[in-house]
Amino acid sequence: MKLHEYQSKRIFAQYGVPIPNGDVATTPAEAKAIAGKLGGRVVVKSQVLVGGRGKAGGVKLANDPAEAEAVAQKILGMDIKGLTVEKVLVDEAADIQQEIYLGIVIDRAVHKPVFIASSEGGVEIEVVAKENPDAIIRLPVDPLLGMVDFQARNLAFDLGLRGKLINQFVKIAKGLYQAFVDSDASLAEINPLVVTGEGKLLAVDGKMVLDDSALYRHPNLEAMRDVQEEDESERIARDAGLSFVKLDGEIGCMVNGAGLAMATMDIVKHYGAEPANFLDIGGGAKADKVAAALRIILADPKVNAVLFNIFGGITRCDEVANGILEALQEVKTDIPMVARLVGTNEEEGRAILQAANFPSAQSLGEAAQMAVAMAKGGQA
Ligand code: GDP
Ligand code: MN
Repeated sequence: MKLHEYQSKRIFAQYGVPIPNGDVATTPAEAKAIAGKLGGRVVVKSQVLVGGRGKAGGVKLANDPAEAEAVAQKILGMDIKGLTVEKVLVDEAADIQQEIYLGIVIDRAVHKPVFIASSEGGVEIEVVAKENPDAIIRLPVDPLLGMVDFQARNLAFDLGLRGKLINQFVKIAKGLYQAFVDSDASLAEINPLVVTGEGKLLAVDGKMVLDDSALYRHPNLEAMRDVQEEDESERIARDAGLSFVKLDGEIGCMVNGAGLAMATMDIVKHYGAEPANFLDIGGGAKADKVAAALRIILADPKVNAVLFNIFGGITRCDEVANGILEALQEVKTDIPMVARLVGTNEEEGRAILQAANFPSAQSLGEAAQMAVAMAKGGQA
């Protein structure tokens, strides 16, 4: 789950990271009032759960409250990468001398949280990584020791910080690390962390991604979820208890089991098409779950064939076959589909599908080839 900039920065602030004064507005009048209270120049920032808002015109400076109102008027309702801006953050504008990138992610290869830092912040870190990889510093942290002072000081030096900025940086890096750990985050990022004209470090932007599997331990963080800003299909999937990731291809995949779902995606690619999604309906899925999954897959206008790949263990193939047919009663569609059922009660399952003229195949290779042919417009 992603947090908004304002939410992430408020969490960082609880850990001693300095952030600009500011507040959130949902109307231009509110933005004006906040700017009036702050006094001086402000920055009005769209709160949407994507990066690169600045480039998209979603971050604008304003010299006085009237200008803040006018700018908020422009930004609220704006579409940024498919998301509608419902809120803006109005912050005191910073006098920026330098922009630094500072983030933490988990590096699964070394089994540790890793600080990623660059003195060339502000732009997206992926761009720096591509164009100027030498400008990126990586610092693994021992999870048992945490971020210790000498490491943070070294990092400050490597970033070219000197004098009073070093101790400020140590406090920020340690605070960010603690916020990351305490929140069970998979990403905590400040981009940019700026050096101001007064010689202070300030977190001007903030981003956090939380581990969904750990959210049950953090009801206060779960409560920050902004459903308005979520992808509709991912929200429906979560409510139905399905693991779903939307992709860009044309073949919808419905599979029970995460490993099997990945193998299914690989084989779809192998036969020359692209999967439209990762979808694990889980073990023992009944008709209602199959129907929910089918609705999610078919809501994607790019999908032009659906491949069911079911391994019957605890799940019985005949039950899944009935589930598919029941789901199709509910979700009417002309999109061609094929099912591959193996395992418990596979013959019964295939007989049920055959009686309903629903195409099925015995091997995954065969089923995937049928799906690819269907997607390309041929009749399998
Ligand atoms: P993002 O584009 O979504 O990452 O949004 P950011 O909050 O990082 O803002 C983008 C850019 O706008 C920053 O890298 C800064 O260059 C600029 N910016 C943001 N806040 C301020 C501010 O308070 N003062 C000034 N001068 N520039 C700002
Ligand atoms: Mn940013």
